Amino acid sequence: MAKEVEMGIAHPLCNMSTSIGDWLTFGSGYLDDLGFWEKPCYECARAHEEKYPEDFPCWPFSKEYLEELKRNKQWPFNEKEEK
Ligand SMILES: [Zn+2]
Repeated sequence: MAKEVEMGIAHPLCNMSTSIGDWLTFGSGYLDDLGFWEKPCYECARAHEEKYPEDFPCWPFSKEYLEELKRNKQWPFNEKEEK
């Protein structure tokens, strides 16, 4: 519960949800069926990771983490759409 109170570290309008894969997702606007926000917020995700390292990785993922996923071929969805 405490984590929800902490939301909006970077922006009061941003929200937090949980996506498929159990990642915390950050952003605003429409929340799709998979738990991803219409307007992802990179800053809030990074701010949350900094404050709660145990929640890593937070979506939208950092560039470093995305690179790592691709390297390990662990990108769990849209894999065939990746160019
Ligand atoms: Zn934000």
